Amino acid sequence: MRTYLLPESGNFYKANLHCHSTFSDGKLTPEEIKRIYMEQGYSIVAYTDHNIMIPHQELRDENFLPLNGFEGDFNESAATIDPNLGTIRCCHICFISPEEHNPRQLCWHRSEYLFHGNNKENSKYVNFDENEPDYVRYYTPESINDYIAHFRDAGFFITYNHPTWSLENYREYSHYEGMDAMEICNYGCYAGGFDEENSHCYDDLLRQGKRIGCIGADDNHNHSPRDSARWDSCGAWTCIKAPELTYDAVFAALKRGDYYASRGPVIDELYFEEGKVIIKCSPAKRIALHTGWRRADIRMNRDGRLLTEAIFDVQPRDKYIRISVTDGEGNPAHTKAYFLDQLGY
Ligand SMILES: [Zn+2]
Ligand SMILES: [Zn+2]
Repeated sequence: MRTYLLPESGNFYKANLHCHSTFSDGKLTPEEIKRIYMEQGYSIVAYTDHNIMIPHQELRDENFLPLNGFEGDFNESAATIDPNLGTIRCCHICFISPEEHNPRQLCWHRSEYLFHGNNKENSKYVNFDENEPDYVRYYTPESINDYIAHFRDAGFFITYNHPTWSLENYREYSHYEGMDAMEICNYGCYAGGFDEENSHCYDDLLRQGKRIGCIGADDNHNHSPRDSARWDSCGAWTCIKAPELTYDAVFAALKRGDYYASRGPVIDELYFEEGKVIIKCSPAKRIALHTGWRRADIRMNRDGRLLTEAIFDVQPRDKYIRISVTDGEGNPAHTKAYFLDQLGY
């Protein structure tokens, strides 16, 4: 029996799930962002300005879907700074709302956490419950998990962002619960010089038993010129497979995990059949299987011929499998991890 890990039917839609505009500290307006991304073949942008969720559904058309979201931050207080680091650690999380219209921001504080760019003046557009008291955040696992739990209960899609830039390690991120996915690549940080390729962090979380997906996202702020190395748009994305380009269909595909992350390669098919996982993709230099224990596998031609398919054995001890694809330029794509019981194995 064949089990499709990426759905057999539907369309792939290219998405940037992390983005900053002039509503917080980004340089471009939401309209300018739409234009730049559509020129590069994107159909979806999640507008995730810092700490304020402002919908941009006025940009919706039949070929473009804006998602409603924001990025929440938790910052270490100066009193608790690790003297070995000498700087403030933080935890940044993107929250994408299941509500297309009038999305409600939970855990709102009327005066705090509005320090990013134009946050303060745009906070008047935030839809929150007037009867709720101000919500105070702390950089502790308890506070972060409480905040996440409120959004999780309301059905949000939740991603853990740029652990490298945040200076977070296992001792911090192993405590976070309730995320749907993490950024295996954050291109904005990468374009700034950070080693924001987070496969190791992803395996850490998976080996802990956290069943989460991995996404690629830009986290674009667009402060550098378009022809410079620091230009941070259209460098990492998530390909979402959904039956149609509607808010509900795309959001449901995200929650199901029907996507992969990329900085270049295209993954066309991914399925499990008779103890093997099969991947079909754009021409690749290297295709590698990663598992939940000390076993990996690789397909690569030493003579440089590129591959468009790989077949790997799956073994009962693998716990989970995930595949990375590297193109001739060295750009990676990553499937999310699939635990063996999800394969019907
Ligand atoms: Zn961030
Ligand atoms: Zn960001």
